[in-house]
Amino acid sequence: MSGLVLDGIAKSFGTVVALHELSLTIPQGKFVCLLGPSGCGKTTLLRLVAGLDLPSAGRIRLDGADITDLPAHRRDFGMVFQSLALFPHLSVGENIAYPLRIRGASKADQAAEVTRLLDLVRLPGIADRPVSRLSGGQRQRVAIARALALKPKLFLLDEPLSALDAKLREAMQIELKLLQERLGITTIVVTHDQREAMTMADLVVVMSAGRIQQAAPPVEVYCHPVNAFVADFIGTTNLLQGQVVAPGRLGLPAGEISVPGLPAGGATAISVRPENLRLHAEGGGENRVAACVTFIRDLGATVEMRLDAAGQELILVMPPADLPELRPGAGVFVELPAAACVVLSP
Ligand code: ATP
Repeated sequence: MSGLVLDGIAKSFGTVVALHELSLTIPQGKFVCLLGPSGCGKTTLLRLVAGLDLPSAGRIRLDGADITDLPAHRRDFGMVFQSLALFPHLSVGENIAYPLRIRGASKADQAAEVTRLLDLVRLPGIADRPVSRLSGGQRQRVAIARALALKPKLFLLDEPLSALDAKLREAMQIELKLLQERLGITTIVVTHDQREAMTMADLVVVMSAGRIQQAAPPVEVYCHPVNAFVADFIGTTNLLQGQVVAPGRLGLPAGEISVPGLPAGGATAISVRPENLRLHAEGGGENRVAACVTFIRDLGATVEMRLDAAGQELILVMPPADLPELRPGAGVFVELPAAACVVLSP
């Protein structure tokens, strides 16, 4: 098949297991984000794909060919790391042309490529400028242009935007996504920022403690997280522990609710996103539980309300226009719509 296949990959450093055995298939042309907290093994996985480290077990295949033992410089992958590693004493053009020069491209070809790549990253006409006089976002784009100079089969980026301020970072996320769509290069980006992953990825690979927890499109990961770790790591959620009391019925401290897809019997956790909760003045309707308002904060675009439902905290988000006249201490009813309750595996 065409694409990248990680087959039973594992990596240990001495006694430290950085990656437990994992498998992942990335179809050609997809944008993948490796997402997870610090130390979960994202960079280790990217370095294995890059050929900078050898796996302790497993094979890596690209378009059907086994590349596990192929050294990094023979993989022809484009790489951008957090440090960018641009040569400060060279001009923008010299930086971008560097890999082409190493490969023995003619001066004319180098110049043509530099022009093409600078257009691609929306920095036309700055080839002669010293790299030292560029802004953070411009350097970022120069590093991307240089990594793309050899028309890589795979584009690998490790926290490429982490040094940028929030606004520029968001703009670059969109640019990177649009650029990747135009080029159609299979791209893998390491990030610990879930919003960044949601913005760019076709496939989000959520990792924790050296394991893949879930690999799925962003909306799938958000709406159908497989376990509490994923539900909690991606956005904000209500993680509620309950007891299955009958088929499809979950007992919470505040009352019983219907939840489709509940396993038979025992303690079970569900996730309900704050924007899916509904506020009511009266009880009695399906899946409504009594709760007491504990905290309200107006965040401008949304209002967040925290409530206590018989000892369980609920977080509810709504548009400011929908906020009724309520103060902390008020008693209300909260609906947990059955369709929005996602059963989590232990
Ligand atoms: P971060 O977001 O902080 O960069 P990460 O998810 O990329 O974290 P890795 O850098 O892949 O995590 O590290 C995974 C685990 O492997 C960590 O426990 C780390 O300490 C360990 N590790 C990584 N590289 C080495 C190494 N060369 N020698 C020993 N341990 C290592």
